[in-house]
Amino acid sequence: MCIIEAECSNLENENQGKRSPEELFAKILKSINEYTTEKAEVLLLNKSKLLTILKSYRPLKIGNYIYGLTLNLLKKKRLIVFEWNDKRRIREYSYTKRPNLWTCRECFRLNDHHNQHRPYTYLYLVNGIVFVSIKHDCVPRDYNLVMQYQKFLEEGDTSKARSMSRTISFAFGQDFFANVVNFVEDFSASLSKDSTIDTNKIAALSGLKRKLNDNECVSTAEKVPANKK
Ligand SMILES: [Zn+2]
Repeated sequence: MCIIEAECSNLENENQGKRSPEELFAKILKSINEYTTEKAEVLLLNKSKLLTILKSYRPLKIGNYIYGLTLNLLKKKRLIVFEWNDKRRIREYSYTKRPNLWTCRECFRLNDHHNQHRPYTYLYLVNGIVFVSIKHDCVPRDYNLVMQYQKFLEEGDTSKARSMSRTISFAFGQDFFANVVNFVEDFSASLSKDSTIDTNKIAALSGLKRKLNDNECVSTAEKVPANKK
């Protein structure tokens, strides 16, 4: 479990929240390899821009986010970012055409499809450093569910990924079992239309069901389902 890790992370949050942009910038420079592969000179050249960002965004160390695939199987267009205090929860960001700017998918969904007129929440990716907004109101997503979706995409199975996004709520704290039953039923319905489907896929679904029942705190990238073959 990651209780201690979560507590450390909380502590780091609190400290980050109290630090001035100057202090945060100095902290990044001091352990630059934990934040970016860029050189210190590059950051110093962009110091004023980075200080402005640090007023309302916090920098993330490299292990706190991963890249995912889009439904079109494009790489480097989706960022999956762990929450500060709980690695079971993530937020997903989509690449925008504006340089360095990514938008939260859930905030976008609520605005675009539900007309909630909420502010979009962005992520900056500047000089190789990911910065996330300190203020962010939408409900985070469930890491295990999002990574199962990503696993289907990595396997090139966009129809199963689409089916999953149609039937499952990715919000953290949803009823996992109800989610999985919905998905399996939807998938079974598609099976009857497609008799050529691989039986391995059915086995994979059973595995998903077991995994969700056995949901535990996932604290490291090694536990990413996509890595299990
Ligand atoms: Zn959001």
